[in-house]
Amino acid sequence: MPVKVLEDWLNSCSGCEISILNIGDPLLDLLPQLEFVHMTALVDHKFYGQLGDKTDMELPEADVAIVSGGVRNAEHKHELEEMRKKAKVLIALGSCAAYGGIPAHANMWKNEEVFEEVYRQSPTTEPSADPNDPNIPAWTPTCGALDEVVKVDITIPGCPPHPDWIVEALSALLEGKSSWKLPERSVCDTCPVVREKKSGGGAVKRCLENLEFNPEEGLDKMRCINEQGVLCLGPVTLAGCAGKSGVPRCIQARTPCRGCFGPIRKGARPMVDMMGSLSSVGLDPKTVVDRRAIMNRYIGAHGFLTALPAKPVR
Ligand code: SF4
Ligand code: SF4
Ligand code: SF4
Repeated sequence: MPVKVLEDWLNSCSGCEISILNIGDPLLDLLPQLEFVHMTALVDHKFYGQLGDKTDMELPEADVAIVSGGVRNAEHKHELEEMRKKAKVLIALGSCAAYGGIPAHANMWKNEEVFEEVYRQSPTTEPSADPNDPNIPAWTPTCGALDEVVKVDITIPGCPPHPDWIVEALSALLEGKSSWKLPERSVCDTCPVVREKKSGGGAVKRCLENLEFNPEEGLDKMRCINEQGVLCLGPVTLAGCAGKSGVPRCIQARTPCRGCFGPIRKGARPMVDMMGSLSSVGLDPKTVVDRRAIMNRYIGAHGFLTALPAKPVR
């Protein structure tokens, strides 16, 4: 009997679904064992009856629910709760589902300020929608992660999550296991650059600064980005963005880690730990520009974010 899968996106860009498709050949091996009973991206299954004639959301029963995107409005919350009711195991797919992700950056401001800046003041030719229109789902007070609303059994972080980990998590379930998780290692643990445990000291530069490296030489000859004085969130970010191949994706591209894989473990305090890491190589953590925003932007909304009194800056 194939395992029934219910998949949907909430506050999502659909990049996580592209990662499912990017699994490639291993997906062909998995498919005979899976039956997608609902997947907005691929399967024509409607929420309110195939003819739209139902008043209550109807989702099929499933063994596994895979959910991408965080919770930004009442409709997302309702669908997530329905998916939780219908599935035995729920997987949070991607950093938006796991931590709130990039959209949770909006939690730095009050909803009303976001509406004003992004909708009412936005220079478009169309009049802005009225957020109080009853046809538009009401925003939740903040943009949150799935486990702020329902129990999550498995988290596959990443923006987007690497296909290797989607295969591993699904394979674990198919083998009868009830959970799966990545090892608790940092991006630095998988980074091959040269580390001397000291920098030139002084202020921490933004990642807009050019790094020093010889493009003819491998990463194992490049100096650690933090030790070059430029902010890299590798010390406080969970490893795994490159899948099983190891070397972190941004470091491969010779740019700093921005923390998209989230914190190394639940309950971590990445801001505090990152400040300690900068100090340990002789940099002044107080000089990180807008450190609250930088640290919170990609490393989870889990209780780290509170609305700022500042007006949004375009
Ligand atoms: S985690 Fe990244 S790829 Fe997935 S929905 Fe969020 S922004 Fe898109
Ligand atoms: S701080 Fe960045 S560049 Fe340095 S070891 Fe960690 S991930 Fe690599
Ligand atoms: S290096 Fe950091 S920001 Fe870049 S993909 Fe990996 S975890 Fe994400």
